[in-house]
Amino acid sequence: MMDACNICNEPLGAPVYESARPVSITSLCQVLEGPTRVWHCASCDHTQTAPLPALEKFYAEDYHILTASEEEDQLYAVHEGQKIFRTKHQVTTLLEKLDLPPNAQVLDYGCGKAATLKALHARRDDIAPHVFDVGEQYRDFWNAFVPAENQAVNKVPAEWAGRFDAVISFFALEHVAAPKAFVAEAHRLLRDGGTFYFLVPNVFTNTADLVVADHVNHFSENSLHRLLADAGFAVREIDSAAHNSAWVVVAEKCDADGIEPTTNSVADAVIEMAEYWQEFGNRVRAFENASNGEAAIYGAGFYGTYIHACLERPEAVKCFLDQNPHRQKQILLEKPILAPEVLSKTVRRLYVGLNPRVAREELAAMEWPRKLEVFFP
Ligand SMILES: [Zn+2]
Repeated sequence: MMDACNICNEPLGAPVYESARPVSITSLCQVLEGPTRVWHCASCDHTQTAPLPALEKFYAEDYHILTASEEEDQLYAVHEGQKIFRTKHQVTTLLEKLDLPPNAQVLDYGCGKAATLKALHARRDDIAPHVFDVGEQYRDFWNAFVPAENQAVNKVPAEWAGRFDAVISFFALEHVAAPKAFVAEAHRLLRDGGTFYFLVPNVFTNTADLVVADHVNHFSENSLHRLLADAGFAVREIDSAAHNSAWVVVAEKCDADGIEPTTNSVADAVIEMAEYWQEFGNRVRAFENASNGEAAIYGAGFYGTYIHACLERPEAVKCFLDQNPHRQKQILLEKPILAPEVLSKTVRRLYVGLNPRVAREELAAMEWPRKLEVFFP
């Protein structure tokens, strides 16, 4: 069912991971039928997930990321009590890394509601913003700042070929079953010397990415390099530090040599992550069965949803807790999402649904009114 690598076309062997139960969870915290299966390519160091049959329906009907309101945004980090949202951080990073010429023609490819492009345009109103995506659901957001002739749905106008100083893309390529075609299209739309700038999740700094059902591609430095070089790009930068849990990638459409690929393989790291997820459900249930009483899940994102799906008695969970004020207005798995400060006194047990790299630190920074029994991921 998964014959060849998305990046180098080499045949793939046995999967490195298969979920213990035929249940998969998406990046938007939906629980879908069908197992998650993951392969690693020994040839180019790419890791990929077989698309679920249920995903086609998911994209057509359910994939409305952050379209509830104009202001809705994901919480990027909490630093010394200050909340930093993802869009603002993405614009700051982009302006640090990209030297956009005056009146630059910029295309957000696979843009969703194009929040980052909009925030970029607010800081650089000389640029000419363009947007492309595969659904009509984002038009209202685009109309606020993109002229109609600069908007494209499903098909890019012929006259856009070679037009752009920059093609930018935020968290799109991980969803794409044919990443080579996506990157070839970015190359075709750029002018000579133009820059392809994109962000994708970094599974090596956020292990949950390995088991997200709708993330088909889990890139390594090597597989990113291979993908871009094969498409005719010079790779300028593959940065794992500028954005938490993501690769920030800068590539140029030119014949010059880019940076050298790394010689380190990620194969062992992928196997280690697969083992972690294979055992994860058992760890959750061991905590669940060690005592009883009302519980809450801290983190109304993928980790929290995953923990909920592992439980034998999910009815013991009364609520999710989340620091993102946008998230606090919502419901997840029919349970309220609350600010941590308003946690009910009757709750004694807490599952931490956060990236294990930051979970202990983040929990220690919070003030809890009483002692709780805590599960760490
Ligand atoms: Zn490969």
